[in-house]
This record gives sequence, C-alpha cells and structure tokens, in this order.
Amino acid sequence: SINVSGVTKRFGDFVALDDVSVDLPTGQLTALLGPSGGGKSTLLRIIAGLESADSGTVTIEGTEATHLPPQKRNVGFVFQHYAAFKHMSVAKNVAFGLEIRHRSKEEVKKRVGDLLDLVHLSQFADRLPSQLSGGQRQRMALARALAVEPSVLLLDEPFGALDAKVRKELRDWLRRLHDEVHVTSVFVTHDQEEALEVADEIVVINDGRIEQIGAPDDLYDSPASDFVMTFLGPTT
Ligand code: ATP
Ligand code: MG
Repeated sequence: SINVSGVTKRFGDFVALDDVSVDLPTGQLTALLGPSGGGKSTLLRIIAGLESADSGTVTIEGTEATHLPPQKRNVGFVFQHYAAFKHMSVAKNVAFGLEIRHRSKEEVKKRVGDLLDLVHLSQFADRLPSQLSGGQRQRMALARALAVEPSVLLLDEPFGALDAKVRKELRDWLRRLHDEVHVTSVFVTHDQEEALEVADEIVVINDGRIEQIGAPDDLYDSPASDFVMTFLGPTT
C-alpha cells in the first residue's frame, strides 16, 4: 500500500499541498484527478521521492519512505514528456535499469523479451525511440518502468500528449496490464472520463486539498462537494 499522512508542501509562501492524507491499498489502480495547479504532480513526486514534503510521512508497502531517495523506494515512474535514450534501441532502453543493477545477461534478455511482449512492442525491439509513434513510446516507457519490478508504479499524465483514439486504446490497455501485473499504481489525470473508466478508486485533489476519495460510482452518485459534482459532471 501507499500511505501518505498529513503531507504539507510549500513553495515559498505558496501552499501546494495542505495536510494531505491518502491510503491506497496494495494492487489498487488509483487516479489522482483534479484541475491544473491542484497539486497532483507535486503529490506524485513526493510519493516518488523526487520532492520532499515540509511535514508529514510517506510509507510504501510498509516501509517508512519519507526520507528515502527515489531509487530506494522501489517505485517505477513515467512522466508525460518521457525522455528515452535516443541513441539506444527500444530493447536497450528497457534493459537499462536491469543492466545498471548488474543483472545477468540471460536474465536481462528474458525479462526484456517478456516486457516487450506485455506492451506489444516485440516487433519493434531494434528500433530507435524516434521511430515509434507517441503511443508506442509511452508503452516503451511503461515497460522501462516495470523492468525492475517496482512495487509501486507512478504515472503522471502518461497519455496526455496523445490524440483521443490512442489515449482510449492506451487507457484500456493500462487497465488490462494492471490486472495482469497487480502492481500498486497511481496515475495522474485531469480527464474525469479517464479516471471514471479506468480507476478502482479516485482521489480528487484541488487547491492542494483532497476533495473526496472514493470508487468511481460513489463519486459520481454522491459527490461530496459542489466542486466534485461540477468536476465530474458531463463536459458537454
Ligand atoms: P497540472 O494539471 O497543470 O499538471 P498539477 O495538479 O500537477 O497541475 P502541480 O504541478 O502539483 O499541479 O502544482 C501545484 C501548484 O504548485 C501549482 O500552483 C504550481 O505552480 C506550484 N508549483 C509546483 N512546483 C513548483 C515549484 N517547483 N516552485 C514553485 N511552485 C511550484
Ligand atoms: Mg501536473
């Protein structure tokens, strides 16, 4: 599970997160949903260890992680503008995290093969990232994040830059992948439809505060505030 307890984060005088607490069970796929500037990325970065909180604690799968660097948290992450190694093949990109951990050649080969199968990129193993479509690149990024078997997968608007059709494909695929791999996952989105369709649970965050946490149906049927009602309401 991911447990965030009483986390406050300021940038100068500005309070980006105000006493935020969430408890996300192991294996759950959670959407962090809210408007621009609400604090979604900041919360995700604090869970990842890329940003430190001013107060509060982060516990990941039972380990107090508040002061641990990202590489000791056993988390994989994918950000919206994903930077791949441009000069390395798709397979090499996926292998990278394993190679710096000195895994054996055989293990790396097997694991990379399995991962490329999982994200349906086997036939593109030898291409360069620049020779992939945007959606394929996002899938490569996911394979890379999964390579070192993180207990937690954090995705910051992983499909943000893609057109509606590819977005929908990837979103369905993320759901299936999650059901296969059972990793505790959090993805950020400002798209309520995406959150409602894909997530087990939605955390609505606005102005640095949690507005509501609940299953998609609960949020839709009983919004806790006007904000949630308006935000989840039909867009057209
Ligand atoms: P978006 O949907 O636009 O990505 P978000 O919900 O991810 O928004 P955050 O990136 O978490 O929002 O930012 C929350 C607030 O904190 C914003 O007002 C932002 O300007 C501010 N903020 C974030 N990072 C910094 C920083 N390094 N320095 C100063 N202010 C920051
Ligand atoms: Mg953001």
